[in-house]
Amino acid sequence: MDLVIRAATVYDGSGGRALQTDVGVAADRIAAIGDLAAEPAAQVVDATGLALAPGFVDVHSHDDFAVFLTPEMDFKVGQGVTTDVVGNCGLGAAPFSAARAYLAFFGADRRSNVLPEWDDYAGYLDAVDHDPPSCNVSVLAAHGPLRLDAMGNARRPAAEAEVAHMADALGAALDAGCVGFSSGLIYEPGRYADTAELIALAQVMGGIGGLYATHMRDEGLHLLDAVREAIEIGERGGVPVQISHHKASNPAAWGLVRQSLALIDEARARGIDVTADQYPYTAGSTSLFAVVQNAEEGIAGPADWTRIAVASSPGHPEWEGRTIAELGDAMDREPIDAAKAIIDAEGYGAVVIIHSMDEDDVRTVMAHPTTMIGSDGIPTLTGKPHPRLYGTFARVLGHYARDERVLPIEEAVHRMTGLPATKFGLTDRGSIVEGAYADLVLFDPATVDDVATYESPRRHPAGIHGVWVNGTAVVRDGEHTGARPGRALRR
Ligand SMILES: [Zn+2]
Repeated sequence: MDLVIRAATVYDGSGGRALQTDVGVAADRIAAIGDLAAEPAAQVVDATGLALAPGFVDVHSHDDFAVFLTPEMDFKVGQGVTTDVVGNCGLGAAPFSAARAYLAFFGADRRSNVLPEWDDYAGYLDAVDHDPPSCNVSVLAAHGPLRLDAMGNARRPAAEAEVAHMADALGAALDAGCVGFSSGLIYEPGRYADTAELIALAQVMGGIGGLYATHMRDEGLHLLDAVREAIEIGERGGVPVQISHHKASNPAAWGLVRQSLALIDEARARGIDVTADQYPYTAGSTSLFAVVQNAEEGIAGPADWTRIAVASSPGHPEWEGRTIAELGDAMDREPIDAAKAIIDAEGYGAVVIIHSMDEDDVRTVMAHPTTMIGSDGIPTLTGKPHPRLYGTFARVLGHYARDERVLPIEEAVHRMTGLPATKFGLTDRGSIVEGAYADLVLFDPATVDDVATYESPRRHPAGIHGVWVNGTAVVRDGEHTGARPGRALRR
């Protein structure tokens, strides 16, 4: 054995009860589980009193560029994440010429010169393997850049030939190893796609196992219509569905998650594989551009500018942390005009935090057995990002599972590991069984918690003792080791 972790309370990722035992690692795999006291090992970690779980799968990340810009990925591995699923919300990295549109949103435009070169998804996955980050990377092909490549930012549904162009590129992305396809129906250009376009693209994945993940058209007053559309796309496309960051956003929509979860249950009863993911906070975060566009079009209900604060505005750090209403007062403008002035100055680089959800809804969604955990962290290099970027997984384990008892800890671990690994086709990951890859996180169940706040978001969680990716330690005694053993995980 290269490593034996002794006497840990082992959560195997299945959702079953924990068992105190030893886990042995040889090279990149779990080699033995049981009493390994007599087993010679290069390194022994005494884990008495600590919990060992499969490394967490962040099914909802936006680290497409961050894996190259900040390859140690400290904000993710620091919370126990060993696999990042990138390409969510229709925002992605290929083809690169089209994906340039997203660089500013992810704070990457000022450093795009340090990115490796790639064009299509095959090239992106190869670039990850060539210059790996500290965590594994699994990729959803994103609708946005495929659509920009096919038809520019045309504000209309795609014509047949344009759908065919996108379908060819999606087919190639799946062949290269992408695990599915994502849409972002509040963003440019995804908002102009109709249901038929999305069904046609979902059908490309029928029979080969890719899933359809969606940031739906409306998470406010028309949440239920949006869930119905997502389910219809899955059903008619013949593919599994992942509803991204499931929530009811806007006080007038609070409570609708009970009905949206019932829609998920109904669809599952009909045999459609519908699941969702969630970040454990009552605030969201996105581009100010999308918020203004939605406000002007009346999507999701009226914006409350007193509850929308600037997270990142690289050219104007003095705006960060202040609400749009406050900035409107300071500029002597109406809030929406202040928001437009900020966009004029910052473009897509203006990212905001929106306090728009109900705590009861967050708990209702979390308690549902089909909800996975996904951070939705936006890895801006500057400013005050939403604390979910650093704290999501620790917050679920500590605050919600241990302290608030919204779900048992073994169930919380399952929703971060075994459940997503199965859904996203991550072979030999997400469980502690002999032969699986040694993606592991060792944490203190008594102290694990997020400590990142809206005011001070760049703080690593408490209670994460060790993290291993493919058998190599990336966090030891709470500190990053500098190792970068991540891999591109192909479908
Ligand atoms: Zn989204």
